[in-house]
Amino acid sequence: MVSTRTETDAHAPDDEALDRLRDAVRAQLAALGEDPTREGLLKTPDRVAKSMRALTAGYAQDIDAVINDALFTVDYSEMVIVKDIDFYSLCEHHILPFFGRCHIAYIPQGKVIGLSKLPRVVEMFSRRLQVQERLTSQIAETINSTISPQGVAVVVEGTHLCMAMRGVEKQNSKAITSAMHGLFRSDARTRMEFLNLLRLGGEGAMSSTALWRHDEDAGD
Ligand SMILES: [Zn+2]
Repeated sequence: MVSTRTETDAHAPDDEALDRLRDAVRAQLAALGEDPTREGLLKTPDRVAKSMRALTAGYAQDIDAVINDALFTVDYSEMVIVKDIDFYSLCEHHILPFFGRCHIAYIPQGKVIGLSKLPRVVEMFSRRLQVQERLTSQIAETINSTISPQGVAVVVEGTHLCMAMRGVEKQNSKAITSAMHGLFRSDARTRMEFLNLLRLGGEGAMSSTALWRHDEDAGD
């Protein structure tokens, strides 16, 4: 009994926040002209509250726990690339999903991160309310500060439902963002090697020209 009580107490603030989320969903349904008490919607506030909690679980994570000592000292200074990391996030302007793939490259300087940890880093930052540009730079900056590589490059391709569903422009358009540090920024050959290795989305989907332009916009 005692342990049950302790557990309840430990979760009390969380449960209160969850209650507030449920109330907010109920209010939203009513404001939309729905009847939150009809059978099909009865459990919706609870489901939405819990799913919102899960989709923003990245707020509660910290980088040390995510990387979990998976840093290794190596005598290796070639480019490390992890391509096609799936991510799902929520745009902070509309709280609608944006999702796609993330590609990460870095050139070590004595230290590497366990390869399986890079998707965890992506997840930690994507499970928050985000804008794609910030997601991209947070991933790059985290790798930069964690292992101080000679360079790090992150490219994110995202489909935004706030664009697709509201029919603003082309339904199939993707937003592409990049963040380049160190050698990827200063050395054109390194950057080209990375971009060639990616060959994003096949012909025309994204030319390296588009990426270059974005990089320059970012204040190269
Ligand atoms: Zn949006």
